Amino acid sequence: MDNRPRHSQRVASFGQSIFTEMSALAVTHGAINLSQGFPDFAGPAHVKQAAIAAISADHNQYAPSPGLPILREAAAATYQATYGLPVSPAEVTITCGATEALFATLLALIDPGDEVILFEPAYDSYGPNTIIAGGVPRYVRLEPPAAQGSADSSTLPTDWTFDPDALRAAFNPRTRAIVVNTPHNPTGKVFTRPELELIAALCLEHDVIAVADEVYDRMVFTGQHIPIATLPNMWERTVTINSTGKTFSMTGWKIGYTLAPPALTDAIRRAHQWATFAIATPFQHAMAAALTDALESTYYAELHRFYAERRALLVDILQAHGFGVVPPAGTYFIMADIRPWQPASDVEFCRYLTTEIGVAAIPPSAFYEQPATAPLMARFCFAKELATLQTAAQRLALLAPHPAGSS
Ligand code: PMP
Ligand code: GLN
Repeated sequence: MDNRPRHSQRVASFGQSIFTEMSALAVTHGAINLSQGFPDFAGPAHVKQAAIAAISADHNQYAPSPGLPILREAAAATYQATYGLPVSPAEVTITCGATEALFATLLALIDPGDEVILFEPAYDSYGPNTIIAGGVPRYVRLEPPAAQGSADSSTLPTDWTFDPDALRAAFNPRTRAIVVNTPHNPTGKVFTRPELELIAALCLEHDVIAVADEVYDRMVFTGQHIPIATLPNMWERTVTINSTGKTFSMTGWKIGYTLAPPALTDAIRRAHQWATFAIATPFQHAMAAALTDALESTYYAELHRFYAERRALLVDILQAHGFGVVPPAGTYFIMADIRPWQPASDVEFCRYLTTEIGVAAIPPSAFYEQPATAPLMARFCFAKELATLQTAAQRLALLAPHPAGSS
């Protein structure tokens, strides 16, 4: 009998992703799925048509490992036109979604024992990616704002904030990288220029690389998205990551990309070639067409209007049903305060909401190193048809008034 474990030490601490778990629970219980972040509506017809055309034209063999030149040109042109970043197609690498971009970047940059600073709550793949690379995650907490309408809302911050001294203290000689996710999943925070300037100053002082996860850059409702790579002297030390899955509402295509100066791009491509080698060719053609068209059309303005309407509706729905909500500055997520129901944990509350009320949400403790220290909140996704959100509203009406009875 062989009693060796069937997994390596490297993966021993990894459980199932919270997105997989909650989406499966939603399906089992027929719940409206506002948990995992993905649109329940069709992506743009012209982009689907471009993929069909690429398949029909037999663009079906391996793409070049760094990505199709036309897609790398379109991604570079997008950052140049939108943010004035003079990036060349040679500095773009096409990856299997932002997920592989993050993975390849951290594998390419981190040596065993290197530290990676993560803002907590942290998108769930950052910690495991760092650990797989042999690194050590080091967390700096974002503290929640006071929920609108709560008694103490006049004195507490109106946005998620971090303690600058805690950030300064996290930088040390072992720090190799910091992940800057703005707009931030799950909080919806859009990092301000002064915050980014502090991060940049610390990166420069300590020779640290910024890994900028900007997949929600087109979904900003208050404030402004500022790529940290555009700050003085930061391009040389930043890997910028984006995903066409968010921007063109087709998360299943998994077309993401990195923008980075030549030395960092070389490192990323070394990891990328042994992870996936190359990404689905016809979908690269289609996303090249999508990005090029979007720069010449009203696509981004329409996408923004579309999401602004849904954000306003879901904020209203949640507030009307007793949740404390501060409208998110960006992303397609809303973090709602569930303390009024005094649940034992956010996991218990989200499971109850999914199985008994029929609305699935994500318990944000999954984004914390120590889940017990997470604030009592639930994350809801509004990348949904208006009718989906209306049905969720009808179901939330079944949620018993909380003990305080203030809703
Ligand atoms: N980063 C963040 C912050 C995300 O929210 C997501 C997915 N929702 C990803 C990365 C992964 O993106 P992709 O689906 O393109 O792999
Ligand atoms: N990023 C998506 C979310 O935050 C989920 C992506 C995934 O399931 N891996 O909901």
